[in-house]
Amino acid sequence: MKLYNTLTRKREEFVPIKKGQVGMYCCGPTVYNFAHIGNLRSYIFSDVLKRVLKFNNYKVKHVMNITDVGHLTSDADEGEDKMILAMRREGKTAYQIAEFYTKAFKGDIKKLNIIEPDIWCKATEHIKEQIELIEKLEKKGFTYKTSDGIYFDTSKLKDYGKLAKIKIEELQAGKRVGLGEKKSKTDFALWKFSPKDKKREMEWASPFGKGFPGWHLECSAMSMKYLGKQFDIHTGGIDHIPVHHTNEIAQSEAAISKKPWVKYWLHGEFLVLAKGEKMAKSGENFITLSTLEKKGFSPLDYRYFCLGTHYRKPLMFSYEALEGAKVAYKKLVEKVLELKGSKGKENKILQKKYLETFTKDINDDLNTPKALATMWEVIKENKITDKDKYLLLLIFDEILGLGLKYLKKDKIPEKIVELAEERLKARNGKDWKKSDQLREEIKKLGYIVGDTKEGYEINKA
Ligand code: AMP
Ligand code: ZN
Repeated sequence: MKLYNTLTRKREEFVPIKKGQVGMYCCGPTVYNFAHIGNLRSYIFSDVLKRVLKFNNYKVKHVMNITDVGHLTSDADEGEDKMILAMRREGKTAYQIAEFYTKAFKGDIKKLNIIEPDIWCKATEHIKEQIELIEKLEKKGFTYKTSDGIYFDTSKLKDYGKLAKIKIEELQAGKRVGLGEKKSKTDFALWKFSPKDKKREMEWASPFGKGFPGWHLECSAMSMKYLGKQFDIHTGGIDHIPVHHTNEIAQSEAAISKKPWVKYWLHGEFLVLAKGEKMAKSGENFITLSTLEKKGFSPLDYRYFCLGTHYRKPLMFSYEALEGAKVAYKKLVEKVLELKGSKGKENKILQKKYLETFTKDINDDLNTPKALATMWEVIKENKITDKDKYLLLLIFDEILGLGLKYLKKDKIPEKIVELAEERLKARNGKDWKKSDQLREEIKKLGYIVGDTKEGYEINKA
């Protein structure tokens, strides 16, 4: 299979470090608020990646962190800790905030049919590992101290910024504002000291002094703890390329004295608003999965919507576009229910042909739009039996994750069937008025009755 590696800016053949096994780390949420649907797009992308790896028979070990300390309002080292802002906003402890929004996040990913990571790890539960990593960097001469923390000296690495292809000289030539005591603009905090005059809400003792870890540190410390010093895949949204992931690479490669720390870096493009506005974690542009549900969309309508665009392309969000996905997904569900339980001879040759096309596309840097197109081709194909179609759709769904395997026909309540029968009698007797009344009554109960050659059909409204 081929994957686009941000590190080389190329689609590369995927070759894991250990045969048949894949270690994969995904930067998880900062749990100071609900995830917005933009954040969730990036987890749908990593879920597809994981499913494709499994489909190719790799044994995947998937790790995701929960950021519950250290992520400041700017991705660099300025501003307030997002968790502390949430504590003030909601009058709760950091633990309560983290617990509440972690639960909400896990609920969202479950609804989106995203397979849970094998390991969840919280930054606050890995302070020891983070301190050890700083000590290692300190011994190797990569750190220096300022009045507010311990910093990583990026000038000590020749290839700092290789992921983002940052031109350090140009950055340094820029304004010096905001440099403070930092030696270089790109240097970043490994440990920040608590204020001298007051207790910080979240702080830990360390050999360097009381304080808290810098945001980038947790991902390096925890990924290496669970996946080993070097591992295969690291994912996140594109916003992480210039700062967060660049700094993760710097500190990790400095610590292990080996390159590359991670073999493949994959980044998901952003979900953008049609108006050109940024998806935000507050205000009108704060669209969550529950916002969509309240407007009558199911989480899987949203998943289908995301699959329609390649993960490396920006996806424009609008309710009209989502409505289109909803209609298509509903049609798909109806088709699958129609095909379910079909009998007949299997046509292995045609099955193989479609499976090959599908596999070729998903193995080509996760081309989900093409995979969806193949799925619809199968549905429309008249040379294969319904049984073949159903079998193929279930296989495709191992990647697409649209919940097709578990679909069940809704059992129509007896009361509705009785009303429909009564309506049929009225129609046969040409009593149109009564027939219309009964149709309305059925509609009020949440069902739609339609006329067919055989009599009628009932569907959920
Ligand atoms: P956060 O909770 O802010 O740490 O972000 C969680 C994940 O969502 C990260 O991988 C971000 O890169 C990603 N992300 C943030 N905004 C968007 C967006 N509008 N579209 C897609 N991914 C996003
Ligand atoms: Zn991270």
